[in-house]
Amino acid sequence: MPRELKEHGTPAAYERHRRNHERPCEQCRLAHNAAVADYQRRTGRGRARQRAMTTLARHHPQLFASLHAQAWLAEPGTDRKARVRARQAALRALAKHESVCDEFEPLLAAELHTEDQAARGKQAPQD
Ligand SMILES: [Zn+2]
Repeated sequence: MPRELKEHGTPAAYERHRRNHERPCEQCRLAHNAAVADYQRRTGRGRARQRAMTTLARHHPQLFASLHAQAWLAEPGTDRKARVRARQAALRALAKHESVCDEFEPLLAAELHTEDQAARGKQAPQD
């Protein structure tokens, strides 16, 4: 029994057009563009969040240092990965800390805005 072909209007169907050296149909092209935009939004969100947390740490070095010390104590390992995990844990704790969490959302919103501008600048070609 032949493998069932996916309907048009999905990223998989778009890839099938490309593999068959066909010009993707409108439905498939739209589905592909939406998937690309979604991917950029999700990865962009992660990067924007990371930058917003780093900025917050720069604004509150003492609080961050104390959260970092706590995270490091709680960390079972001591290798490079453990250091990265401790730093990430401290950044997340800082973003949620009640004395500074009001500052985090505006920082994140600003970074997301920057990320959106960048995504619009390099949007996938229309074909
Ligand atoms: Zn199609």
